[in-house]
Amino acid sequence: MGTDLEQVLVSKEDIDAKLAELAALIDKDYDGKDLLIVGVLKGAVMVMADLARALSTPVTMDWMAVSSYGAGTKSSGVVRILKDLDTDIQGRHVLIVEDIIDSGLTLSWLLSNLSSRGPASLQVCTLLRKPEAAKVDIDVKYVGFDIPNEFVVGYGLDYAEKYRNLPFVGTLAPHVYGG
Ligand code: 5GP
Ligand code: MG
Ligand code: MG
Repeated sequence: MGTDLEQVLVSKEDIDAKLAELAALIDKDYDGKDLLIVGVLKGAVMVMADLARALSTPVTMDWMAVSSYGAGTKSSGVVRILKDLDTDIQGRHVLIVEDIIDSGLTLSWLLSNLSSRGPASLQVCTLLRKPEAAKVDIDVKYVGFDIPNEFVVGYGLDYAEKYRNLPFVGTLAPHVYGG
């Protein structure tokens, strides 16, 4: 697997430190509130697990699975719910937890879908964001790292379902894509 990687973009140490920082902000902002964190499967599994453990605020956790990509590798903005929340979020403080915001189309759809359910508040936390790839302007309250517009894997992110279990975020060597 080591030879499949080109470069480590965000190390495990950087991720841990950043999640501790974000958790401190979230603890402050949600002090005394009842917080529901919603992870978007499958990519956000690692961020959810580590962020949740870095928080002092007691949280409940729920999950959604959506599919935004058709056959291609570009987000279409057409989103299908593969697994909906188990929780009724009306009147709840909801924080969406994402692995990465690329075009922002998936998240934009998710935000309008969830806000129509009447949460008390709705915010977003993402580990990674690609500012150069943004197709819609989204207000993201908690951002870990802004990264270049490159395809990355690891720490939940896959290429053909592989590499999700890497403890860091990196780029793949061209030969992996058949390059
Ligand atoms: P968006 O709708 O913002 O374009 O795409 C969001 C989703 O696309 C992410 O949750 C993730 O699943 C996938 N995605 C976007 N960029 C990358 C990337 O660089 N690497 C991987 N593995 N997935 C990505
Ligand atoms: Mg995601
Ligand atoms: Mg994927």
